[in-house]
Amino acid sequence: MANEKPQPKLGKKKTKKKGLRKVSKDPKKKLIKILTEKSHTFIRKRDSKSEDSIGGYCVDCGYYAEGQQFQCGHWHPDSTGGAILRYHPHNMHGQAGKCNTKFQQESVKINYTFAMQKKYGVEYCAKLNNLRWVSIDADIFFYQKMIELYDRGDEEEIVSYLESLI
Ligand SMILES: [Zn+2]
Repeated sequence: MANEKPQPKLGKKKTKKKGLRKVSKDPKKKLIKILTEKSHTFIRKRDSKSEDSIGGYCVDCGYYAEGQQFQCGHWHPDSTGGAILRYHPHNMHGQAGKCNTKFQQESVKINYTFAMQKKYGVEYCAKLNNLRWVSIDADIFFYQKMIELYDRGDEEEIVSYLESLI
């Protein structure tokens, strides 16, 4: 006990609770948060007018929005679609904040639907529409894979992976 060094005082107190239940930190929740952020940023950048800043034309009203106001809006909202549509790059487009908020009250926005049909064709939209009824087991592997794919940033690859799950 003679040469016991005084413990250096650190700013943060580290408390390690060994052997205790780890219920509070759900690893899936953390991954969901990361994937949501990454997919939204991907869409906002994809739909931006220029590569160096976030800002583009709203898929709904057509007005220009930038920064925090240029958001990632879902065609089929998060709440009604399953995991596939929630992270499907064709179900997400740059949308002005005001339109994105209003969207919560409606099932599908009319202008958004027209824009979708114009961009992808009616047939493909119907196919996307049907994905609402497809449920997959969105486990940790799914979230890890999706995060990896969004990091790579190849939209086609993301879509093929999602289609492979159907
Ligand atoms: Zn708008």
